[in-house]
Amino acid sequence: MASPSVENRTDAPASNGVRVRIAPSPTGDPHVGTAYIALFNYAFARKEGGTFLLRIEDTDRSRSRAASEEAILRALRWIGLSWDEGPDVGGRFGPYRQSERAAIYRQHTETLIERGRAYRCFCTPERLDNLRAKQRAEKAKPGYDGHCRDIDPAEAKRRAASGEPHTVRLATPSEGSTVFVDRLRGEVDIANSQIDDQVLLKSDGFPTYHLANVVDDRLMEISHVIRAEEWISSTPKHVMLYDAFGWDPPVWIHMPLLRNPDKSKISKRKYPVSIDYYRDAGILPHALLNFLAIMGWSFGGDREKFTLEEMIDVFSWDRVSLGGPVFDPGKLRWLNEKYLHDLSDQELVDALLSWRLGREHLLRIAPLMRQRMKRLDEFIPATEYFFSGDLDYSSVADKLKIGDVAKKDVSKAILTLIERYEAMPAWTAENLEQTSRAYCEETGYKTKHVFMLLRLLVTGRKASPPLFDTMAVVGKDLTRRRLRLGAQFIASHRGPAS
Ligand code: GLU
Repeated sequence: MASPSVENRTDAPASNGVRVRIAPSPTGDPHVGTAYIALFNYAFARKEGGTFLLRIEDTDRSRSRAASEEAILRALRWIGLSWDEGPDVGGRFGPYRQSERAAIYRQHTETLIERGRAYRCFCTPERLDNLRAKQRAEKAKPGYDGHCRDIDPAEAKRRAASGEPHTVRLATPSEGSTVFVDRLRGEVDIANSQIDDQVLLKSDGFPTYHLANVVDDRLMEISHVIRAEEWISSTPKHVMLYDAFGWDPPVWIHMPLLRNPDKSKISKRKYPVSIDYYRDAGILPHALLNFLAIMGWSFGGDREKFTLEEMIDVFSWDRVSLGGPVFDPGKLRWLNEKYLHDLSDQELVDALLSWRLGREHLLRIAPLMRQRMKRLDEFIPATEYFFSGDLDYSSVADKLKIGDVAKKDVSKAILTLIERYEAMPAWTAENLEQTSRAYCEETGYKTKHVFMLLRLLVTGRKASPPLFDTMAVVGKDLTRRRLRLGAQFIASHRGPAS
């Protein structure tokens, strides 16, 4: 399928070595799924003596955040992974942040237009909306109708030069099928009629995921694309792009998705999915990494506890099973306990110090406690909730209310507050206070009721240092988790409050 005649050969792969990557989008908390895929990339690279790189896919300008990028890098390092090339460590294929590579994508788009494999599309968002509505009404296949595909390229170029807003789309064949081989699944065959003329370059001049991902994988000489199963529907589009450029595609490996026990894709509504939650809740990094390793991959025999080095030694794709690994927090706790028990005294103390008993965390608690203690011995009993994970609400069950608001609405209020907090630009006391007050104003709920409820859920007590400072120090992940558990507790508790 690939044509060997590529004029632009300066970017041709220079080596035949294994080069793999993790390519997170910095749009949220560091996700356990990212660590899971990173781990398999890392283990394969180390096994093969290859290179593992980290690339930041931040082309979605409205959702990408520098703080999220920082948090993802920090979390991956915490869990014990490192990369040979990346935005923070450099490398000869940089920049490793897609927002810094805009000119490269534009240039590659031009190449495709010149070859007749892509075209400029001047359809307005209104036309596309109407088209979608019409397709829906007629129960027709959704997708772009090729309206701009036959515009004379010279005319299209002139319209673009005069400043007319446009996107660039890949001209995809409507007949035949696109076939690729997944290392774990064998041949995958998708009818081309299922694949739209996808947008490559948006009207703001930024590339879509598809274009940037393929161009970078090629320019960064990625030999194996190892990613989650959810991307498999994008792969035919990527295969078409490789073909349009005249490039040979990499080896495709789509790892099974992590799932809830009911087999749905893991989501924060069921269990926390942020790596930071597990860190704050006292899970050891090696235990979490080991836990992710046994998701869909087996060491051999029935061995479940092993080090990263041991995994690398025996690593092979043949040990992956596609059954849909269940992310079972009970199993994680079990494994964590084994790791904890195996620590030496020194290691255990180091683990405690690098967790919440370290100077950094204490420095945030101390100012809140200074005026609330007469002697040092009061510190530990008074601050226990800064150091615990999930709380038990049974002893305060009848106090978990907002005035006389119905229980189900109290739960709903908490879930709404979590969403509002998640949308804050940063987890600070000021933002928490402002958001909570705005919510009370909007609903008419009394701040004193809502704030007491929050205090009880976040600390398990009626009295604590100033609420929003406390929530800031308890941290985003533990606070959210306690609030979510609280909402569930209130919804299910049959006590005097019901
Ligand atoms: N940016 C995509 C993500 O967030 C990368 C997917 C891929 O590996 O191709 O996971």
